[in-house]
Amino acid sequence: MRIYNVAIVGATGMVGQRFVTLLERHPWFRPAFLLASARSAGKTYAEAVNEKWAMDVPVPDYAKNITVLDAEKDAETLVGKADFVFCAVSLDKEQTRALEETYARLELPVVSNNSAHRFTADVPMIIPEVNPQHLGIIPSQKKRLGTKRGFIAVKSNCSLQSYVPLLHPLKKFGIRCAAVCTYQAISGAGKTFDRMPEILDNVIPYIGGEEDKSEREPLKIWGTVQNGEIIPAASPIITAQCLRVPVSDGHTAAVFVKFEKKPSKEEILALWRDFSGEPQTLALPSAPKQFIRYFEENDRPQAKLDRNAERGMGITAGRLREDSLFDYRFIGLSHNTLRGAAGGAVLLAELLAAKGYFD
Ligand code: NAP
Repeated sequence: MRIYNVAIVGATGMVGQRFVTLLERHPWFRPAFLLASARSAGKTYAEAVNEKWAMDVPVPDYAKNITVLDAEKDAETLVGKADFVFCAVSLDKEQTRALEETYARLELPVVSNNSAHRFTADVPMIIPEVNPQHLGIIPSQKKRLGTKRGFIAVKSNCSLQSYVPLLHPLKKFGIRCAAVCTYQAISGAGKTFDRMPEILDNVIPYIGGEEDKSEREPLKIWGTVQNGEIIPAASPIITAQCLRVPVSDGHTAAVFVKFEKKPSKEEILALWRDFSGEPQTLALPSAPKQFIRYFEENDRPQAKLDRNAERGMGITAGRLREDSLFDYRFIGLSHNTLRGAAGGAVLLAELLAAKGYFD
């Protein structure tokens, strides 16, 4: 496998810091360029992150003395030097959309954590184990952008990883509807306990925009590619409530599901146990070996104990039981800044690299 030179746009943020640590010893990707806002540009990475550093390991040595570039002004300096770009910025939707298209039009493929392009019809929104076939839309997108190798591929919202991978293999029974309550960690808001004291001893019953994303994004992921567009699936109807809870990392989902044809509990457990996708077949470096792990214990999965399953890339589940209103209910958990953000994007980039999209 060749080595790819990578740029991280938004490298000083919560997700960007995860990219910087995750890519320290990556076998294929070499993080060569770090970009952020004009506030950080010109500083060394160590100076730019300074007190903002929120990882539980120190700033990697390789990154400390890299001079941070201005993501808006210095994009052209990457041309011919970077093979692709990871993007995770806190800008408004219009600015993010424009920034990502600027990179794509410079023939720098963008693997994005941002939500701005998730509903652009020719931009694939990928959970690598669930809908890798949507990468087939990329030639249509390149045609629209007028590019040879530049395109944008996005990952879905972090909260989805705690229930969509669990619902996906059950679709063969016809999912009529699902209700989901998510209990989301503060790192999902780019926060640590120091920076979010109001969450201590508290639950905040609102996360802006999150319920809409949690209900709509699965339908695009389960959609079909037709005439250069991804047409979202019409069903199942999903209703969601999203709460912020005093947990550092790890989003929990309490899920209720009703089927056309109700499966047995054993059938569900077998489908979860055996669910593996292209990342496992291709043995991608960040792929979890066991994608879904089910706990028999009544008090699992727990965010603190189980978020790091499979280096934070696995999905854990528990408490599958019959429900009096729906057919079944269960609990799902995933690591929101690993599987749900930087790790999920790295896995998507590995899939793109393995399939030749960065050549
Ligand atoms: P964050 O901690 O606030 O970091 C934001 C980053 O954007 C910083 O590097 C910041 O640079 C940069 N930035 C701000 N204004 C900019 C500008 N004008 N031009 C270029 N860069 C600019 O945010 P985050 O939590 O990492 O989230 C980043 C993105 O990932 C968001 O779209 C978020 O929705 C998404 N996401 C986050 C999570 C999560 O778990 N946190 C999960 C999935 C997706 P400075 O340091 O120089 O200001």
